[in-house]
Amino acid sequence: MTENFIPYGRQDISDEDIEAVVTTLRSDFLTQGPQVPAFEALVAQYCGVAHAVAMNSATSALHVACIALDLGAGDWLWTVPNTFVASANCALYCGAQVDFVDIDPVTYTMCPAALEAKLKQADADGKLPKIIVPVHLCGQSCDMEAIAQIARSFGVKIVEDASHSIGADHQGRPVGDCRYSEITVFSFHPVKIITTAEGGLATTQDAALARKMELGRSHGITREADEMTQAPDGPWYYQQISLGYNYRMTELQGALGVSQMTRLDDFVARRRQLAAQYDDLLTGLPLQCPVQHPDANSSWHLYVVRVAAKHHAAIFAALRAARIGVNLHYIPVHMQPYYRGMGFEFGQFPNSEAYYAEAISIPLYAGLTDADQIRVVAELANALAATA
Ligand SMILES: *Cc1c(COP(=O)(O)O)cnc(C)c1O
Repeated sequence: MTENFIPYGRQDISDEDIEAVVTTLRSDFLTQGPQVPAFEALVAQYCGVAHAVAMNSATSALHVACIALDLGAGDWLWTVPNTFVASANCALYCGAQVDFVDIDPVTYTMCPAALEAKLKQADADGKLPKIIVPVHLCGQSCDMEAIAQIARSFGVKIVEDASHSIGADHQGRPVGDCRYSEITVFSFHPVKIITTAEGGLATTQDAALARKMELGRSHGITREADEMTQAPDGPWYYQQISLGYNYRMTELQGALGVSQMTRLDDFVARRRQLAAQYDDLLTGLPLQCPVQHPDANSSWHLYVVRVAAKHHAAIFAALRAARIGVNLHYIPVHMQPYYRGMGFEFGQFPNSEAYYAEAISIPLYAGLTDADQIRVVAELANALAATA
């Protein structure tokens, strides 16, 4: 008998989630109705933040965040190499340039010391970035207090890529409260903590930034008389006052998001429980388990183990052959052909490159059963034994 395939991550959709979507499908609004604002209000309240702007993806939200912060030609945005390409591509959409700050070798998030050294050099060269994008890898918050202190001393704005970390907290407060940033972005892709199928959202404490992001997601069009350059011609009138896109979230997605928000705390509690069980079950095996910063309480989007680089490919292959859907987050962005074409080279960001040579994301999602988790650990132990 073939054993079932265990993916590294997957959504959890209840009958109530389905009911919410179907009810909306039968309603008057498939887009631009009440569900998306309701979802935004729930996320804003959860995160303890004034404004939430939902979009059709986190990629769109990162783009619109950059627009709201006036990123453009001649500007720089820095992020980390070990992230999804979207954290960097948002700068290129705006005609700006990208550079990277290496990760801390223990937490795998942006290294404050590396950031400080690079900012000092950039300041001397007259090439300070306008925006940095720290990424809360696996759901663990970056050391935001240290990062913000350094960035603010150079006048650099911060967009947190929290695609992995809705439901996480940091210094006892929810990720997304923007205490240390201008804007925070979440993703609701099905592998993330909650899902809207596709979807993303930006939070901010700044009303002007929130308004710019609302315009950015919907063509730069306003119907507010006080934002117009002249009195309205009539009740039909609207004005385009900036260049925006159609990045709106649909009502079906909003309804799913509202329903998923009621389950967020349960999802995160189960992920934390599974992560603690992995910590126990993997004790004694020749691998490195994830390390948590004392300020961080992760949402555990991913559980990444590190194995000896020389056995990495063999262990990965053995697990895939055993129908364990291991994955690798992430191929360092500067090693992608598109980025190499801009002049980036292997060797520039050694901590990210060493991580890439050793990291394996093992299955972790709210619906993972204890029995399946034990099978993952058994197959991992077999694979490690076979290479020993
Ligand atoms: C998933 C992800 C994104 C992109 O999210 P989408 O909603 O798929 O656009 C961006 N950054 C990180 C770190 C991600 O994991």
